[in-house]
Amino acid sequence: MTRVLSGIQPSGEIHIGNYLGAIKQWVAIGEKLGRDAFFCIVDYHALTNPLAYDPATLAQRTFEAALVNMAAGLDPEKVTLFVQSHVPEHTELSWVFTTITPLGDLTRMTQFKDKAAKQEAVWSGLLMYPVLQAADILIYKADTVPVGEDQVQHIELTREIARRFNALFGETFPEPEALLNPEAPRVPGIDGKAKMSKSLGNTIGLLEPEESIWRKIQHLPDDPQRIRLSDPGEPGRTIVFTYLSYFAPKELVEALKEEYRKAGIGTLTVKRILFEEMMKVLRPIRERAEELKKDPDYVMDALLEGAKRARAVAQATMEEVREKVGLLLPS
Ligand code: ATP
Ligand code: MG
Repeated sequence: MTRVLSGIQPSGEIHIGNYLGAIKQWVAIGEKLGRDAFFCIVDYHALTNPLAYDPATLAQRTFEAALVNMAAGLDPEKVTLFVQSHVPEHTELSWVFTTITPLGDLTRMTQFKDKAAKQEAVWSGLLMYPVLQAADILIYKADTVPVGEDQVQHIELTREIARRFNALFGETFPEPEALLNPEAPRVPGIDGKAKMSKSLGNTIGLLEPEESIWRKIQHLPDDPQRIRLSDPGEPGRTIVFTYLSYFAPKELVEALKEEYRKAGIGTLTVKRILFEEMMKVLRPIRERAEELKKDPDYVMDALLEGAKRARAVAQATMEEVREKVGLLLPS
């Protein structure tokens, strides 16, 4: 791993799925790679979601998404953290990529099919989403993309785009690999079924009020086959234990599973412990977020500095691309 890129959409409240699947890995990678770790708030991507996108709130949401990432541990003085639209070369490269991406590759993408099914009118931006994502990654010649499992198919497409570009125009891009957090590749939503997603409203937000989180935990679906407290429980049948494994130490999880199997404890006890353990992780993030909210200039300056650094790399790649595809260069 020498260069990393990953992104998050300002499409709603950042949740524990984003944190566990993506941001937590980003923080660890940033410690190792420093400025070669590129992370961006992908605001152009968020325009493809008509249900969540509102021109009146996008800028604020973009700013808050950056702030939450910083609060969760991403240090903009170490990594390169920026806003996608501040580096217009992403969209420029994505145009070139659309010209070498078969339509069929895009229409078969699972995310496209899922999201399109929920929309009344389907705009072509939603279809092109993975092409822009390929440009986000390849413009930095990133070799590693830390993401949740839902993005693996898009990274595979990115590899194909890189391969095709290289075959047509000469060796230019690496074929990047997805990197999953083995402990939480796909965090289920509070309904216990779908992936936790900003756009599905099945989330636990990193900055959500404690009472609201506790209410959601209380309502997490229980083991449907355990009717009485005296019935032996099967931890695998309730997401309460799935969530617990993300936040509590292994020994505690194992001990509680044992008790639960023996019908020694009910789900409510486990839910209380889950809440405590989750809040131990979330409280410091909230405290840092409160601090950062008092200093919005620090957040904005850090983003602009990040964009400056990112843009220098992106411009160099775009110059190479323009030359390789044979455009008339303006010099
Ligand atoms: P949206 O519903 O608008 O697509 P989202 O919740 O899926 O939002 P994204 O901004 O699309 O969030 O994704 C940001 C990162 O978080 C990606 O790397 C994605 O794979 C990861 N991620 C999103 N949801 C989960 C989840 N439930 N479990 C693990 N990783 C996730
Ligand atoms: Mg998503």
